[in-house]
Amino acid sequence: MCGIIGYIGEKEAIPILINGLKKLEYRGYDSAGLTIQNNSQLSTIKKQGKIKELEKNLKDSKSKIGIAHTRWATHGKPNEINAHPHINQNNSISIVHNGIIENHNALKELLEKEGVKFSSNTDSEILAHLISKFYKDDLEEATIKALELVEGTYGLAVINKDKEEIIVARKGSPLIIGLGEHENFVASDVPAILEHTKRVIYLDDNEIAKIKKDSYKVKHINGNYVDKEIHEIKWSLDKIEKKGFKHFMLKEIYEQPLSIKNALRGRLTDNIKLNLNFDINEIQRIILLACGTSWHSALIGKHLIEKLTNIPVEVDYASEFRYRNPVISEKDLTIVISQSGETADTLAALKKAKSKKSKTLGLINVVGSTIAREVDSGIYLHAGPEIGVASTKAFTSQVLSLALLSLQLAKGKNLPIRQDLMDEIKILPNKISEFLKEDTKIREIAKEFKDSKNFLYLGRGINFPVALEGALKLKEISYIHAEGYPAAEMKHGPIALIDENMPVVFIATKSDLSPKILSNMQEVKSRNGKIIAIKNDNDYEIKKLADYTIKVPDTLEELSPIMNVLPLQLLAYHIADLKGIDVDKPRNLAKSVTVE
Ligand code: GLU
Repeated sequence: MCGIIGYIGEKEAIPILINGLKKLEYRGYDSAGLTIQNNSQLSTIKKQGKIKELEKNLKDSKSKIGIAHTRWATHGKPNEINAHPHINQNNSISIVHNGIIENHNALKELLEKEGVKFSSNTDSEILAHLISKFYKDDLEEATIKALELVEGTYGLAVINKDKEEIIVARKGSPLIIGLGEHENFVASDVPAILEHTKRVIYLDDNEIAKIKKDSYKVKHINGNYVDKEIHEIKWSLDKIEKKGFKHFMLKEIYEQPLSIKNALRGRLTDNIKLNLNFDINEIQRIILLACGTSWHSALIGKHLIEKLTNIPVEVDYASEFRYRNPVISEKDLTIVISQSGETADTLAALKKAKSKKSKTLGLINVVGSTIAREVDSGIYLHAGPEIGVASTKAFTSQVLSLALLSLQLAKGKNLPIRQDLMDEIKILPNKISEFLKEDTKIREIAKEFKDSKNFLYLGRGINFPVALEGALKLKEISYIHAEGYPAAEMKHGPIALIDENMPVVFIATKSDLSPKILSNMQEVKSRNGKIIAIKNDNDYEIKKLADYTIKVPDTLEELSPIMNVLPLQLLAYHIADLKGIDVDKPRNLAKSVTVE
């Protein structure tokens, strides 16, 4: 799930590997390590914790070939022994692996019977011993034989002490090959190699490649060679620098006027223009599938699509959908939403929907990612690289793209054109910029609440998912327990929690349900809860009830989630920062969740 980088060429491998690992740091990890090959010997160094720890322990070894890894533990504690690379018993083969080997217990038993001694508790170590078992003199062949026995997912890189080559293979976990002059790279993600090359090949599932410094060959695991397209990466590394902001997350919050503009570019002029490969009049139902923050935007998407198109919409967690027997057909459109385009559960859910003949559409940020390549139609978010683990700009771009999609579907169905919505979307970036000036006030509020143990977020209608998202942001980066609820549900349980120590964030911007929200506020006030209200101008009643208010610019209710999530992103950010937490890399989380 975390990072892989490999190098083969004429330069010193270690600095390239270390820099590559640093570029992957944002994905979250708990340990790091590398193996280099030198004079027919492999040297492996690994450390728990940050890449800096690994760097401190590096010897001045020379090498032109190496593989490196940042681990996000799935099997076995995050410690030095379990860190990758893993080697075979005579230290002639080294592997780094992302993903999960599901049948590792059975394979371990088999290998132990043959006398293999394991040194770690990971599932990944199996691969080093299995490849070693099959190795005669052909590393690629041995890797194929090993992978034939493996159930699960892998992005895998393998080196041998005597061979000037790296073998890589992929199934369910991303891997790319970067092409250079007398040097080649492998990586789990583009940023790792972008300072060296912009020419990349995306491996597909069940492909294996042999990479030398002047050549590469890609095969299907069944032995047939595959001709791969070379992609030119269009963005550069300055897109992933902090540019004076303390954290990537804060920079990304501030980028939202621009990311929203980019999501609109070429799609909304006098009219709406999205290229979709299906006829909306053949669609009887829409199913939205996603995980985490993207699932929240899916919930908002349901409101938007149903309101604008009258097409019934269902929303499901991808992880649940993939394991049930969903009743779908070619009359359904399945929309999958994923920032990275690599989310394992979402990819599996997409495959399930496809197997049932559903039409598919993806809302994806990372260009060229697996899901982006698997869907029939796609809408790229164009939010630019999102580095902070807690998603911010990708979320608002998802919601905006769902609004655009709803307009396009309504147009396809010849429904009345919502000119007011199109006009409002165009001025949204300016309104976001205007709001961001409230940031200092939000930091002051954050100071009051940074030591709270719990938070409740309440919203209604299209803003109920915003309450969920606000609570998720806070949990993710401040480690404060927080729950999001539809405001009316409070009386069915959470009200029992309310006392003077419970901050309650109300999303109380203007809507038909405003009077109801006011009653809910009253209920909290009567029980001494502390109210933080997100509101529009001149809401005198709210001002009377709330302990703190944050004003957001007026907008149409359909677009209010985009405005209303901004103060919640900033509140979570400032609370986490004031608590001294590493906001961009919160504990236990990974950016791109490529395991189940
Ligand atoms: N399942 C492997 C482990 O726990 C791989 C983890 C990863 O993808 O970083 O070591």
